[in-house]
Amino acid sequence: MPYYDYCCPDGHTQRLFLALRDHTPKQPCSCGLWAEQRIGAPLLVKASQDVCYDSPIDGSPITSWAQRREDLAKHGCIPYDPEMKTDATRRVQEADTALDQKIDAHLEEAYTRMPHAQRQQLKKEVVEQGMEVQLERRTA
Ligand SMILES: [Zn+2]
Repeated sequence: MPYYDYCCPDGHTQRLFLALRDHTPKQPCSCGLWAEQRIGAPLLVKASQDVCYDSPIDGSPITSWAQRREDLAKHGCIPYDPEMKTDATRRVQEADTALDQKIDAHLEEAYTRMPHAQRQQLKKEVVEQGMEVQLERRTA
């Protein structure tokens, strides 16, 4: 059940645990006056911890959250989130895959345009390098 804090004009405070349906913005005070609800910060607000470190960018001491925000902004940085690494890894993999496909397509095209004698020469050279050659025809 949520609780609500009330304060009357004489300064008497009271905390009432009320069901949502019983909640009203004013409640009677023991002194006879009406007490108004006081809105406070939600309980889940995390108290900020102290900050104390040297900036990894320029080594300047950071001793407050304001300094931290300033330091990050000054150097075009944002707070680290582990998900960023996942995203970056995924982007690199996508770029690699796209590049591989481009290279494959380009090689396929170049090989297709090659005169027969040149193909035989290429095959010979590759085999001399100790690689196996398997000619395979693929269509995308
Ligand atoms: Zn009162």
